[in-house]
Amino acid sequence: MQNLSNLSLLKRCSYINGRWMDSENTLSVINPATETTIAEVCEVTASQIEQAISDAATAVAQWQLLDYGLRSEKLLLWRDLLLENQQDLARILTLEQGKPFSEAIGEISHAANYLQTYANQHSIFEAPETINAERNQNAKVYRRSIGVVTAITPWNFPCAMVIRKVGAALAAGCSFVLKPSELTPLSALALAQLAEQAGIPAGVFSVVVGSNAQAIGEILTQHAKVAKFSFTGSTLVGKKLLQQCAMGVKRTSMELGGNAPFIVFEDADLDAAVEGTFACKFRNSGQTCVSANRFIIHENIAKEFKRKLQIKMKSLVVGNNGQSEFHIGPLINRRALDKINGLLDQALTLGAKIIEGGKEIESKGYFFEPTIIEDITPEMEIFKREIFGPVVSIITFETDEEAIRLANQTELGLCGYLYTKKQSRIATIAQQIQVGMLGINQGRLSNTESPFGGVKQSGMGREGGRYGVEEYLDYQFVCADFAS
Ligand code: ADP
Repeated sequence: MQNLSNLSLLKRCSYINGRWMDSENTLSVINPATETTIAEVCEVTASQIEQAISDAATAVAQWQLLDYGLRSEKLLLWRDLLLENQQDLARILTLEQGKPFSEAIGEISHAANYLQTYANQHSIFEAPETINAERNQNAKVYRRSIGVVTAITPWNFPCAMVIRKVGAALAAGCSFVLKPSELTPLSALALAQLAEQAGIPAGVFSVVVGSNAQAIGEILTQHAKVAKFSFTGSTLVGKKLLQQCAMGVKRTSMELGGNAPFIVFEDADLDAAVEGTFACKFRNSGQTCVSANRFIIHENIAKEFKRKLQIKMKSLVVGNNGQSEFHIGPLINRRALDKINGLLDQALTLGAKIIEGGKEIESKGYFFEPTIIEDITPEMEIFKREIFGPVVSIITFETDEEAIRLANQTELGLCGYLYTKKQSRIATIAQQIQVGMLGINQGRLSNTESPFGGVKQSGMGREGGRYGVEEYLDYQFVCADFAS
């Protein structure tokens, strides 16, 4: 950490109403590549969280009345500061999260692009819509900021996930209290430091850090002054948080788990499919919610797909964040390794076969070999649960109907991928596949303008572009009668 050019980015306390708050207890932030502690960060107290929410309620009164253009200016300044500090932000991100430096640099650019996108949504606010009302009536629909928003974000994109929510909410005129993952709080705190520098007023964006996620979550979802709660994380935790929000009828956005099918038809360009597998399976060591989880491959080309994939996988370098060039970093912690070991053990017991990798790497850090497992079946946990690691799990099919049935045989529906050259098949399958986002002949989906989010138990609401800003607005219908 000492090699940062801007040491002011390294913060060790929660940021509340423009102040860095000390407290007695601390939590350790661990480098997953070495298992060493990189920082101790103060644990937020319950009264500090309540204070952050009250201060956010005070701050929002002015922030929401600002002209949209003035809010946009601050977001653009924040974007500029992200880009000026890109190298340092990427260093912090890599150390606490483990991903390759080049991916961390990409994540900061992506976050900066989100701010730019949200700053460009003037059209939403231009003029209230006039409704064709009765004679003498002046009837309009206004867009109003929802008010105070709280959120919990995960550790896999410690910068982009934060900005994707906060940028949209601030553009809409909301104030925001964020709890980042306790595993990667340093990136969020660095972003808060830059927000302050960009002139985002005290209380409009606060960050509370603590390891007791459940207790913090209870306050963030139940405080009377909170209007909306936004979450990205597992479906299990999302369900609990939704229940908590129901008590106060809070608005919610939920970006929950995925179980993405990656379907390769007989006519597909197999080199492109292997390329796509790399993009959506090995990025961030497979720890993304849009990672392909079930490779559904036509039986006539499965052998060739596996052969090409195995050859290309030989080029993957597993490495730690002290190194400059590598593709696969560690998983986030021991729990993540144990989960993958459990999924593979159960699949092997039920008849699946490993054809590449399959083991933890014996060294410091939470590394797992890039792996291919074949002959999986829908009964196996590996088919049902999000793997969140560098494991390609393969099942084969014969007919299009079977491929679609397998793809939809899950409670989740975040995204999916399909490879085929046949236009008619693309149209049919896009209609039948139950996902919020679909990649066709490509393994990358993310784009700051498009609506990111899922169907079924993958959640509700969308992030990105104007869709993201709309999530933080309510309608107000105003109808004036001039007859009396
Ligand atoms: P993952 O399994 O990928 O870590 P989680 O859903 O457990 O996903 O974590 C995502 C975020 O949710 C993190 O910020 C974590 O601290 C938080 N979290 C975990 N459990 C709870 C809970 N019971 N209540 C509120 N937040 C939680």
